[in-house]
Amino acid sequence: MAILLFVSGGVHLTFYGVRGSTPCDGGRFERYGGNTSCVALESSGHEPIVFDLGTGLLEYGDRVTEGFSADLLANHLTSPYRATVLLTHLHWDHIIGLPFFTPAFRPDALIEVHGPRQEDGSLAEMFAGVMKPPYFPITPSQLGGTLNFRDTDSDEFAVNGAKVWSRWVRHTDPTLGYRVEQEGRTVTYISDHGPGCVESDPDDFVPDDVLELCDNADVLIHDAQHTAHEYEAKRHFGHSTIEYAVHVAREAGVKTLALFHHCPSHSDAAIDEILDHAREFSARTDGPHVIAAHEGMRLDVGSA
Ligand SMILES: [Zn+2]
Ligand SMILES: [Zn+2]
Repeated sequence: MAILLFVSGGVHLTFYGVRGSTPCDGGRFERYGGNTSCVALESSGHEPIVFDLGTGLLEYGDRVTEGFSADLLANHLTSPYRATVLLTHLHWDHIIGLPFFTPAFRPDALIEVHGPRQEDGSLAEMFAGVMKPPYFPITPSQLGGTLNFRDTDSDEFAVNGAKVWSRWVRHTDPTLGYRVEQEGRTVTYISDHGPGCVESDPDDFVPDDVLELCDNADVLIHDAQHTAHEYEAKRHFGHSTIEYAVHVAREAGVKTLALFHHCPSHSDAAIDEILDHAREFSARTDGPHVIAAHEGMRLDVGSA
C-alpha cells in the first residue's frame, strides 16, 4: 500500500511553493512564502499528482517521509512511494527541488515525470545534462528510486484514476499547462503563461488550448506575476498580469482562481494589495472568486 497524505475524502490541493522565478527569503515574504512552484493534488485511494519540482518540493518530500516513518512505526512495514509529476517546463524555478526530494531516494520509489518534449533531446537527457558534476554532485539515476521521464506534447492521458490534458501555452521556452479531472473535480495548472510572447496576439486574446484546459474548472492556478504597470516593461518576459489571469478565468467559467507564481519582488503587503485589486476587478467584471496562493495553503477542491 502506498502512503497517501492529508486525505480524508474529496480532492485536496496543497501549495508547497507559490513563488516565481527565484526563491526568496526574509520577513517580507513570511506569509505567502518564498519557495518556487510545487503543488500537490491528493485524493483518497489515488496516488499523488505533483505539479512542478520547484524548491517547495523539499517541504512536500519531508511530509511524505514523515508519513513513511509513521507508517513504519504503526505497521512495522515500509511502503513504496508512487507519484506522478506534471512538469510545466525546464526553467530552474520549476526543477531545482528534485535533487532534494527525499522520497525519491528510496530504492522502491517509482515516479512518473511528464514534461514538455524538447527539440534538443529527451527529457531524461535534459535532466541528466543539468544534474551532473560540476553543476551538482549526483545524477538523477543516483537518487536511488526510479524516475521515468515521459516526453509529453499536447495530449490526453490517464493517471491512476485521473484524466489529464496537456496543452502548449505561451512562455519563453516550451511550456505545458495541465488540466486534471479526478473524482468529478477539475483542477487546471498554468504556472507560467505569457500572452506577450506572441506579439501579434491582442492583450485580451485567450487561445483555444487555454480555454480548453480551464473550461469550467473548480480551481485554476494561474500565473499572476505582474501588475499592469510592471507588465508594460516586461511583456516579453513570459508572464501574465493579474487582470489577464482574471480574464482567462472569467472567459472559461472557472469557479475559483488562485493567483500564483508571485513575483519575488512582491512582499506580503504587495500581494495583499494585488489580491484586493484582483477581487475588486473580478467582481466588477463578473469574474470568479479570487484567492492568492500561499505556502501551506490547503484547498478542498469543489468547496474552495
Ligand atoms: Zn516560473
Ligand atoms: Zn518559466
